[in-house]
Amino acid sequence: MRRRRLRIIATCAFLIFTAACGFFLRGQFHGDPPWRHPVASSQTIHISNTVIQVDFGPGSPDLPKSTILHWVENAASSVATYYGRFPVARDRVLIEFAPGQGILRGTSWGDVGGSPAFHRLVLGEQTTQRDLDDDWEMTHEFVHSAFPSVDDDHSWIEEGLATYIEPIARVQRGFLPAERIWSDMMHDMPKGDPGSSDHGLDRTHTWGRTYWGGAQFCLLADVTIREQTRNQKGLQDALRAIVSAGGTIDKDWPLEKAFEAGDHATGTHVLINLYDSMRDTPKPVDLDELWRKLGVVHSSDGIRFDDHAPEADIRKAITRTPATGVIRPQP
Ligand SMILES: [Zn+2]
Repeated sequence: MRRRRLRIIATCAFLIFTAACGFFLRGQFHGDPPWRHPVASSQTIHISNTVIQVDFGPGSPDLPKSTILHWVENAASSVATYYGRFPVARDRVLIEFAPGQGILRGTSWGDVGGSPAFHRLVLGEQTTQRDLDDDWEMTHEFVHSAFPSVDDDHSWIEEGLATYIEPIARVQRGFLPAERIWSDMMHDMPKGDPGSSDHGLDRTHTWGRTYWGGAQFCLLADVTIREQTRNQKGLQDALRAIVSAGGTIDKDWPLEKAFEAGDHATGTHVLINLYDSMRDTPKPVDLDELWRKLGVVHSSDGIRFDDHAPEADIRKAITRTPATGVIRPQP
């Protein structure tokens, strides 16, 4: 029987963009587990061949539930667009309400309560349309569905992927401008730099190394795959292949198995080699050199793009809507 993993993915809506702590808790619940919490009403979303059950807990949000459902649909559409389909055949989202404003908490589990993927989102009852429009967390949680569960030492890849893919998926879907996410990456990626006493990604489990160290790995992998394939393949191809091989959140895989499936799809050894170089030792990523090559330049009001930079085409390819097109929920 597969282990049922409890993972507190994100403990507050500001987790990724501030210095708040992230913890991965595995253990017993006090009371019923979230997938058995009460449900006041339910809706379903059909997207590619997936049915997403969206359950609402008790409570009186200011926003109509149709608006909240649309927010879930947009996140599902972003992730399906990135992966070419929604990554699992069935998914379940439980929206619970609490006093406050904004997305207060997001958590994902694999293979619980009869669902391959389950996400619990806690929304403040005073959440506004603007809060939902600005939200990254629902998309982040859906990205977790698209990678197998790996040992605790490798949580950096689960969080790094969700951190790196979430904004790219939203650009590919058309919900964010590319300038915005390169500006955010330039600002936030240094949070993943190893400290003086840090070890490799498998050995130092701080918030910065887990979320942004993992995201640095993903960015470097994406660029390196594209360098080695004349920009014909990217991390997106590797990740789609992992999902196609059955590597989703409800499966427990060794990390190497996922990376081998990804590398096979790109005809490279980028993921395995990069992992070997970053797993035990604190290999710094030269972000300034990456921005220079990609043509992401500081400017007075954020960033500007240098389309004459040597790898400007790689930068453009990373956020380009894939040939499989935008995937929307069926009406
Ligand atoms: Zn996460």
